[in-house]
Amino acid sequence: MKIQKEAAAEGRGQPSAVQLDRINALAKTRLNPEQVYVFSLRLCDDGVDRDFERFDTEALPGLAKLFIGKTGIVDHRWSAENQIARIFDTQVVREKGVSYIKAWAYTRRGGGNEEFIADIEAGIKKEVSVGCAMGSCLCSICGAEYGTCGHCKGESYDGQLCCGILRDPVDAYEFSFVAVPAQREAGVIKAAGGGKSLKELADQFGAQAEYRALYKDAQLGKQYRKELEQAVVRLGLALELGADADVLQSLCKTASAEDLMALRTAWQEKLDQQLPLTCQLLRGGDAAAQVEAGFLI
Ligand SMILES: [Zn+2]
Repeated sequence: MKIQKEAAAEGRGQPSAVQLDRINALAKTRLNPEQVYVFSLRLCDDGVDRDFERFDTEALPGLAKLFIGKTGIVDHRWSAENQIARIFDTQVVREKGVSYIKAWAYTRRGGGNEEFIADIEAGIKKEVSVGCAMGSCLCSICGAEYGTCGHCKGESYDGQLCCGILRDPVDAYEFSFVAVPAQREAGVIKAAGGGKSLKELADQFGAQAEYRALYKDAQLGKQYRKELEQAVVRLGLALELGADADVLQSLCKTASAEDLMALRTAWQEKLDQQLPLTCQLLRGGDAAAQVEAGFLI
């Protein structure tokens, strides 16, 4: 999933000798200290953000490496003119109980960049939006993949706030200076269509109630499917078809719900003919029949 977060830039000035070596490892032509302006960025941290998400502390070192060499642009417009800076070094820093990725970036002095540098020095160009791709997001309450468990980000469960824990860094993208504060919200777009779960879409579009109703139905459906499989296995064993329980179970797992229903009906009829007295036992109660009716819309 693609993630977009806010970060902050801070002016630094001339590079040290070590920094210049790292910069020159990335630059096409060798640069001298006077040609380069260095600034630092605070990128992702492991604190819970306003989207009720946080980066896993153990994911930060891997993510930090992925940011080296990534370019900085203005306003997320992806074109050569807007590529204004480049990250040449990153480090995970722990401060006041929070771990974060600190990045150092450089830009060339001269021309239009002087204005950009002046803005950073003056603290005007400060808001930065960073993008990366993470392989998984876990629920902080139960540890399941977020969106599969029914817990909701931002809600409390027994006094514990639910948040998404972003793990398994896959890639890091450009960072972007967000021009004016009014556009900050736009900078936090979580890359539309970038692998959003149904749950995230529901949160975004205020359809949480519909999502919960669907989720409940899906749970009920799973339960029904399980009961259907068990019924078919029981019937198969009762009919003494020659297949053992393991074989029947593994066949049922891959069969479609329609096939399972057809099998259950056919085998039940067959068994009713053979053993008229046991049919009530094997039918497995009315609850399953009601659930089934609920799903045959
Ligand atoms: Zn959960």
